[in-house]
Amino acid sequence: MAIPEKPTALVTGANRGLGYETCRQFGKRGYRVLLTSRGEREGQAAAAKLAAEDLDVEYRRLDVEDAASVAALADSLAAERRTLDVLVNNAAVALDGFDATVARRTTDINVLGALRVTDALLPILADGGTIVMVSSGVGELTGFSRELRARVLDKGLTRHGLVALVDAFVRDVAEGTWRDAGWPGSAYKVSKASLNALTRILAAELAPRRIKVNSVCPGWVRTDMGGAHAPRSLGQGAASIVWAAVLEPDGPTGGFFRDGKPIPW
Ligand code: NDP
Repeated sequence: MAIPEKPTALVTGANRGLGYETCRQFGKRGYRVLLTSRGEREGQAAAAKLAAEDLDVEYRRLDVEDAASVAALADSLAAERRTLDVLVNNAAVALDGFDATVARRTTDINVLGALRVTDALLPILADGGTIVMVSSGVGELTGFSRELRARVLDKGLTRHGLVALVDAFVRDVAEGTWRDAGWPGSAYKVSKASLNALTRILAAELAPRRIKVNSVCPGWVRTDMGGAHAPRSLGQGAASIVWAAVLEPDGPTGGFFRDGKPIPW
């Protein structure tokens, strides 16, 4: 009798924090895990720690900000005839300050990075697979003008429309007109709201392949980003992420969840 293949999950930004713990939870569930990070040394060390727990974890380099790095990973996995069952777009930054550079880098990593990685890996993602966008409750649309809120929530928003909206945010910050244009004064907030919109767009695009795409908030978790005083453990936050990766075939797509429950944005 043939032994069924293990499912494979790839996680971005997994050398530390929630990405790392998400890899551990996939490993414990019997997945083969591709742990990726932009820093090779840190990622190798993280993968070795999980392998020492007897988990099936392999390291791959991936800087989501760098198109060449994304393409190199996609090409190498395709050449090895690898397939993915789960993609978790977890990598993100919450940079200090608020200027054009912060706005550009934050959206480039947190939103366009997720789109870049998803597009590159789609050819090897199995039909019926899942994509999880690690978002945040901070991405709710309070602080946006009524008009911008309507544009972000518009069911007719296309990926080109979303990229144009993100570009407009960066331009408005650079020109000092962001407040009049209706944006909140936080690049991280704009990035996570945009990521939620991207989730909806990709869910519709990928429905014919039965690929489910959902955004997840892990809650406020004790990591380098969340700080030492956050109320939730790594385990709780990662469980919120893994829930959206292991949905049943009739599970939801295009939604925003925390701990398996829909949340508004
Ligand atoms: P950390 O800051 O601890 O980890 C962020 C990870 O993203 C690191 O591994 C970092 O790598 C990686 N990363 C950043 N930029 C890139 C890049 N260009 N390419 C690849 N990897 C990159 O954050 P958390 O673990 O707390 O956050 C994980 C996710 O959860 C994020 O999406 C965050 O927005 C979200 N989140 C977190 C909350 C919290 O309370 N902690 C609350 C709500 C959402 P490196 O080590 O190289 O910097």
